[in-house]
Amino acid sequence: MNQATSHIPWTSEEIARFMTKVSQPAHGHACWFWTASKNKKGYGRLFLRGKCVQAHRVSWEFHNGSQFPAGLFALHSCDNPSCVNPEHIRPGTNTENIREAAAKGRLTRITQRPWFKRFENTVNAKTHCMRGHPLSGDNLYYFTKLGVPSRSCRECSRIRDRVAWKRRTVVEGEE
Ligand SMILES: [Zn+2]
Ligand SMILES: [Zn+2]
Repeated sequence: MNQATSHIPWTSEEIARFMTKVSQPAHGHACWFWTASKNKKGYGRLFLRGKCVQAHRVSWEFHNGSQFPAGLFALHSCDNPSCVNPEHIRPGTNTENIREAAAKGRLTRITQRPWFKRFENTVNAKTHCMRGHPLSGDNLYYFTKLGVPSRSCRECSRIRDRVAWKRRTVVEGEE
């Protein structure tokens, strides 16, 4: 990951071009939203000097006038990946990143949450759903409702969706 950092300092033209892609609130302490291209995780990105770079890292470099520390991650205090407000970005380790994410409940994969193992140990005795579909592999999915973890059968949820859809078309047909 040697991302264009050897070319610091950035020119004022480059910074100006960058800022045209930012929807910046009039008063500086709120998030600055990146309006151009984003990656799958929602981080802004752009081409600078022939390289694809992460917008929030570059923003940190513009405003601190120095190269982003090698080997560190750019952490968002606002937990908003598309934010490029340099006040909300600081260098940190991957461990800090994960700890912060867990603390904020940002990890979307339920299986990575701290309570998951405990939860699974208490429910894995049930191997099949009420219709006899296996509660394993691709057919098993996890969800939380009001913060309470639960497991469910994909096949059954497909059946429920079909029934709901049929009911809806019948009602529409009657009108
Ligand atoms: Zn922010
Ligand atoms: Zn089922």
